[in-house]
Amino acid sequence: MKERLERLSKAYGISGYEEEVREIMLKELGRYAEVEVDRFGNVVSKIGSGSPKIMLAAHMDEIGLLVKHIDEKGFIHVIEMGGIDEETLLAKNVWILTEKGPIPGVIGFKPPHLKRDEEDQKKKLRLDEMYIDTGLSAEETKRRVQVGDAVVFDSKFFDLGNRVMGKALDNRAGCAVLVEVMKRLSKMSTLKGTVYGVATAQEELGLKGARTSAFSIKPDYALSIDTAIAGDTPDIKETESNLKLGAGPAITVVEASGRGMVPSPQVKRLLIECARNKGIPYQLEATKGGMTDGAIIYMSNEGVKTGGVSIPTRYIHAPSGICDLRDLENATRLILAFVESLGSKP
Ligand SMILES: [Zn+2]
Repeated sequence: MKERLERLSKAYGISGYEEEVREIMLKELGRYAEVEVDRFGNVVSKIGSGSPKIMLAAHMDEIGLLVKHIDEKGFIHVIEMGGIDEETLLAKNVWILTEKGPIPGVIGFKPPHLKRDEEDQKKKLRLDEMYIDTGLSAEETKRRVQVGDAVVFDSKFFDLGNRVMGKALDNRAGCAVLVEVMKRLSKMSTLKGTVYGVATAQEELGLKGARTSAFSIKPDYALSIDTAIAGDTPDIKETESNLKLGAGPAITVVEASGRGMVPSPQVKRLLIECARNKGIPYQLEATKGGMTDGAIIYMSNEGVKTGGVSIPTRYIHAPSGICDLRDLENATRLILAFVESLGSKP
């Protein structure tokens, strides 16, 4: 699991530019299931046949930036692709993924020496006031960088034993779990029905790949496999998030005060029952903001009985996050137990 997560975390794939992640998912899922890339760019894997049809969705895209303009002096101006807090960007190293290969850059900033007063120091820069410096001449930058090139964070991956630190754990953690689930399902002789493991594209831009894939699969049941905001850091109150790393996967109770997914009571109950019966630790997640693929899947077709299983993760939508591999393992076990109880031969 760790090696797989490392490979996925290091791969680059902002929304709409998921090629590198798609290749990994295609290969990994292809070992255990029938697999194809659909017209939208989702990787759809399939095990079994008949009903019930169960869709497991993990998005493969990550948040990032996109080149909007290269100015006269060769500084690069960008727009965001997905929800990014500008505060996480200043002075960060990035890669600009050009047609002729990646170019390193740094998001430029004014040194503290030049900040005149307290107000200047506190001022929060907007993304349209920021720029990327490649260090190359204006001519060279303009020759190599094009409008539309993806810009990704340059973050390392660290193995911390039970935990890992790295880029894009939202949602490569979910992708790693999805592969592990399909792997173990492929060995399950009692499986009844069809399980679709879908690595969705463009979730961060509005749950788009989930919409098209749910439309074509028409599942009876679905789970979104994603990350959830861990609240076990000094700046987050328990009332904002009570999720902790290593305390088990989060079962979604409600998303975004009900603007996102309102899980099917049957699915939610079944997930909790499965966790209890198998002795799998779990946490319950009710959020004020943030949605997963489940929010679109549950409203697709005539409605789909949907739930969510998420990996508590620190610092999502930022260059580097932390999650706990035991939560990935327990999420895998929980999802397998769920699939088994819905669709297994007597
Ligand atoms: Zn996510």
